[in-house]
Amino acid sequence: MDDPERLPLDELADWLRYYRALGFTHLYRRRPQPGAASGSEGTLSIPVPEARADSSQPLPPANQLYLSAALPTAAIAREAAPAKPGTSSPPPALPTRPAARAGTLFDSVAPRETLEQIRADLGDCRRCKLWKGRKTIVFGSGNPKAELLFVGEGPGADEDEQGLPFVGRAGQLLTQMIEKGLKIPRPDVYICNIIKCRPPENRKPEKDEIAACRQFVERQIDAVRPRVIVALGATAVETILGKNQSMGSLRGQWHEFHGIPLMVTYHPAYLLRDPNRKPEAWADLKKVLAFLHDSPTRSASE
Ligand code: URA
Repeated sequence: MDDPERLPLDELADWLRYYRALGFTHLYRRRPQPGAASGSEGTLSIPVPEARADSSQPLPPANQLYLSAALPTAAIAREAAPAKPGTSSPPPALPTRPAARAGTLFDSVAPRETLEQIRADLGDCRRCKLWKGRKTIVFGSGNPKAELLFVGEGPGADEDEQGLPFVGRAGQLLTQMIEKGLKIPRPDVYICNIIKCRPPENRKPEKDEIAACRQFVERQIDAVRPRVIVALGATAVETILGKNQSMGSLRGQWHEFHGIPLMVTYHPAYLLRDPNRKPEAWADLKKVLAFLHDSPTRSASE
């Protein structure tokens, strides 16, 4: 017979999406303590949010309900809390769940978000002041199942004009690095930026602009789930890794975002200004190439 205390799966999915939107990545169900008041069994306790699930972390004891996912810093949908469990109400309007590692409970109840869904959510964005000066929102381009994903800073004049990332001078250099250096056709990789609208005079994006936009790049990465991310320049690195160190100390090193290996290298616009740095950038990309050759390819289920 059905347990009346059990949540229907779709309602559980709503709750999971809600907690995920708040940034919670792990939920534990505690073993009832000896002598604890009856009724405590099954309560969900929410530990301090972790940025991501990591397969290197030890699994919790089998008696705990363990949910993990690679989660973005999604916009907090405060007003979208699901109805009290047990009451029937329409599902909350929350951002669709982003990518999670295969095999988690999140996976079983909510499929991975698609780039189309993320683009639709971005809409005719006015979340920050940059909409006033833009011609086009530059979302990203390339293979939605790319093994390699590049993240830059934000669109310039050419990108704003064409609605595509990295199509100006810096973009031409990036294309050469991808096609001549890595020997990968550009359409096979995915390219996006931290911010999606051109800042006036191509100035650096400001903190509030990055804060308004970062959920989208994180969700794009989770949707594509590449084998490797390449972060181009300081804005990409600071936003995605939250690291404020010099590019000199971060470049050429492996980092990680949501469990995905991330290589830091110079932004092509910087390489245009200082071509002497190109050998270092090439050395960084060779590490990426070696990783792609040496590590197992993504399984069909991922
Ligand atoms: N610089 C970037 O960071 N992104 C672009 O799309 C173009 C130039």
